[in-house]
Amino acid sequence: MIYADNAATTKMSEAAVRTLIETQAVGWGNPSSLYSHGQKAKEILEKAREDVAAVIGAEPREIYFTSGGSEADNQALRSAAAIGKRKGKMHIISTAFEHHAILHTLKALEKEGFEVTLLDVHENGIVVPSEVEAAIREDTCLVSVMYANNEIGTIQPIREIGAVCRAKGVLFHTDAVQAMGHLPVSTEDGFDMLSASAHKFHGPKGVGFLYVRKGVPLTNLIEGGAQERGKRAGTEDVPGIAAMVTALKETVSHMEENAAHLTKLRDRLIEGLRQIPHGALNGDAEKRLPGNVNFCFEGIEGESLLLLLDDRGICASSGSACTSGSLDPSHVLLAIGRVHDVAHGSLRLSLGEDADEAQVDEIIRSVREVVEYLRGFSPVWRDLMAGKKEFIL
Ligand SMILES: *Cc1c(COP(=O)(O)O)cnc(C)c1O
Repeated sequence: MIYADNAATTKMSEAAVRTLIETQAVGWGNPSSLYSHGQKAKEILEKAREDVAAVIGAEPREIYFTSGGSEADNQALRSAAAIGKRKGKMHIISTAFEHHAILHTLKALEKEGFEVTLLDVHENGIVVPSEVEAAIREDTCLVSVMYANNEIGTIQPIREIGAVCRAKGVLFHTDAVQAMGHLPVSTEDGFDMLSASAHKFHGPKGVGFLYVRKGVPLTNLIEGGAQERGKRAGTEDVPGIAAMVTALKETVSHMEENAAHLTKLRDRLIEGLRQIPHGALNGDAEKRLPGNVNFCFEGIEGESLLLLLDDRGICASSGSACTSGSLDPSHVLLAIGRVHDVAHGSLRLSLGEDADEAQVDEIIRSVREVVEYLRGFSPVWRDLMAGKKEFIL
């Protein structure tokens, strides 16, 4: 099997699995209990908080453990909205190609009276900082722009956006779920809040964290006990959190070599897929995650492509795992200006660190053959070839 869907989830590293099992054995106590067995769990939990903080240059008390990226995104937005509401600032700025954890929370906030501006991400899939600046109003309470896009992998100018927000005194949140462990992420980038998820960097599923700059008050999504300084109730998943930290430290310590290896493979894959006629790379060719390749091919259906690739042992995606099962084309591809027909023929390949050239060449060969095969009986392709329809790509 060739696993090329690391943007959907990654395999837990062996070290993370070991930490998970070992911590289940010794650290299963309740960290809120006073006896020493609970205190052992508490120690593991607080050491994990220090380690996460150190990775991004934060203070331990600025780290809140959550059930993953979606929860962190929801809590960040809800918290900023509550702060805004108290000050009569009901305007939020984000982008058209955020993850649904952001977009759907924004939809809910709109129903509660907030006004939302979604910035254009342009053909290259990159937000322009001066457009963020121009969109900020007197009543803007939050700017939320993702660090790297989960479908097309494009990397956003976070530092510049952070500087704009700071100068204007507006809170800035970034969904860094795709960036964490793969790109350098630091509080020096100027964000006030940041979301991350363990299963995107070889940690377990169901664990993540929210960074919140000190002084920014959080709003609870889950009420109950006083865990996470009263801001996120529920007995902490200490083994999962410890395993996340093992995975995070591991990926971060190999980040440069992983990025160099993946960038080489990514560019080889892009070059190979560019040989297929009437296809196009989605998103900027350089400012993208080291392992991300996303193409549209005219005259085919992404779903059929995926099923046939699966027959050949290749795991890929048509975009985000969250939109599979729905007939709507990806909102990300529409946001970069792909028309519906073209957006339907999309393919996302997200390589993992253990990928090699032979696998990349096998993917290129398979995609080329499958695209050709599918076009062989596609009515859309027949019309294109007969000149009854214009090629777009
Ligand atoms: C995966 C992902 C999420 C959701 O994270 P979960 O831990 O699965 O809830 C949010 N944002 C982005 C950009 C993602 O890729």
